[in-house]
Amino acid sequence: MANSVAAQESYDVVIVGAGFSGLYLLHKLRGLGLTAKIFEAGEGVGGTWYWNRYPGARVDIESQEYSYSFSPELEDEWVWSERYATQPELLRYVNHVADRFDLRRDIKFDTRVISAHFDDGSHRWRVQTHRGDDVVAKYCVMATGCLSVTNEPRFPGVETFKGNSYHTGRWPHDGVDFTGKRVAVIGTGSSAIQSIPQIATQAAHLHVFQRTPNFSVPAHNGPQNPEKLADWKANRDAYRQMARESGAGIVAVEASEASALQTPAEERQAVFEKRWARGGFALGGAFIDVMVNLDANALAAEFVHNKIRSIVKDPETAEILCPKGYPFGTKRLCVDTGYYETFNRDNVTLVDLTKGAITAITSTGVRTETADYDFDAIVYAIGFDAMTGALNNIDIKGRAGERLREKWADGPKTYLGLMVAGFPNLFLVTGPGSPSVLSNMMVSIEQHVDWITDCIGYLNQRQIGVIEATRAAENGWVAHVNEVADMTLYPQANSWYLGANVPGKPRVFMPYVGGVGPYRQICADIAAKGYEGFALGTDTPAG
Ligand code: FAD
Ligand code: NAP
Repeated sequence: MANSVAAQESYDVVIVGAGFSGLYLLHKLRGLGLTAKIFEAGEGVGGTWYWNRYPGARVDIESQEYSYSFSPELEDEWVWSERYATQPELLRYVNHVADRFDLRRDIKFDTRVISAHFDDGSHRWRVQTHRGDDVVAKYCVMATGCLSVTNEPRFPGVETFKGNSYHTGRWPHDGVDFTGKRVAVIGTGSSAIQSIPQIATQAAHLHVFQRTPNFSVPAHNGPQNPEKLADWKANRDAYRQMARESGAGIVAVEASEASALQTPAEERQAVFEKRWARGGFALGGAFIDVMVNLDANALAAEFVHNKIRSIVKDPETAEILCPKGYPFGTKRLCVDTGYYETFNRDNVTLVDLTKGAITAITSTGVRTETADYDFDAIVYAIGFDAMTGALNNIDIKGRAGERLREKWADGPKTYLGLMVAGFPNLFLVTGPGSPSVLSNMMVSIEQHVDWITDCIGYLNQRQIGVIEATRAAENGWVAHVNEVADMTLYPQANSWYLGANVPGKPRVFMPYVGGVGPYRQICADIAAKGYEGFALGTDTPAG
């Protein structure tokens, strides 16, 4: 059955996911005069900003930078109210985009794609959903998100807990009132660090269960500064271009070329202080050697440790909060509003899981190796099966029935993070092997969508039916991604970039650390050379 095509509806392109990626894709494909359909598991648009409604959820890149740049009219008419927009504002924005560009008529919501099979004979993708949709398309684009599949709690007894359980990545739409409740938050990543200060203001008592402390810098959020806004408006095109050509896709980081090791101590401290005072990822761009040299990195780590010690009044708690044992910045830097200050509250207790791991969830709360705790509510802020989770959840079969999840059993392999050898006409948006999660995702999403739609336009113009990454090109790219990662300190942390947060997941550094600017150039050069490393219009890929 898998390879026979007997479906009713046919499209040029089927897109999976209606987050920022899927929406922009649909808009661009319509511009090419193509028919496209989005299937979206959620009941609305927005992806990340549809699902992650936990208290305190907001962007950690300045709002105007974390927004679409493809439409000057859209940019002109939308004014962000805060320096770092909240999840509700982001959700309003993405809904506005869907309405403004009349996108909803080609989206089917509440519909999960369960399989996508390439038909060797017809060169069509057959896509099936949990609702029984059975459609064919020439191209299939996975806009399924890098952080859209939650890491589920696997503690024994999870289902026995009699109180309320929540996952930050699947937050109830009508909110949660923790007033007067005994609450546990498990995890101390970005989601926890944003939600903990807010939950603490409501809860009778909050216990934070920390396995690994994270480095967090203050956002210094507030209403949009009118001067900054005016400057952005006046220089928008230049700033957008700077972001596209930069390392992380963020202008506000202002990546420095100076070396931490070669800068005199007093001056270095002043640089760190200035960037801490500016807030957000600015600290990450302070010195060029921080992410490649352990001694330079230790200076940044020490600076943050001292900040934590100066904020948190109880010295023991402060030490537990100081990240040690992995380099600064090798786990995603968190951007917070009052996180460390929260531990000065009488109703907040930090539980150090390195002194006794969680062994079970009981009917009344959390059991660690050293104690039992009773709660009314448990918040799992334990993250995502990142980058590969959403793709591996779909039964994706390429040529000759090869399964993507089997091909990726030892870790993802792609060419440019855009295509996979053996899976013709299947594109990934911000797939593993692209800068994606190491960047301002809006910059990476737009670049991928532009590249994919340009590619489809190129193929259609020349009546080329099939495009496929060659195995040689894919192997070369995978080797390059690893080589560049190994030049940095990134692989030295047990991060979700490596799949380390999901038990049993292969340890492979998934994003491309080469920077969005250089990466964009590589992609553009490959396209300019007639899609070098791709086999076009033939059934048997070279390589
Ligand atoms: P998503 O927004 O994840 O959308 C993918 C969509 O695909 C989802 O709606 C999902 O339901 C759908 N889907 C997946 N599988 C299927 C299927 N089988 N069938 C049907 N539908 C499916 N990035 C930044 O650059 N800056 C930030 O500040 C930032 N903050 C973040 C905060 C949180 C809490 C999280 C989780 C991520 C954050 N990110 C941030 C990353 C964020 O994911 C991206 O910025 C961006 O929103 C991704 O858009 P997307 O459309 O590619 O994916
Ligand atoms: P995360 O960074 O993976 O953090 C998950 C936390 O849960 C970690 O502290 C982890 O500890 C802990 N954990 C996982 N399993 C555990 C277990 N079995 N026992 C105890 N602790 C456990 O996930 P996230 O916070 O949801 O963030 C994911 C990514 O989404 C971020 O890195 C960022 O890219 C994005 N995000 C951005 C923002 C923003 O500021 N805009 C907000 C939220 C998310 P270990 O470290 O020990 O694994």
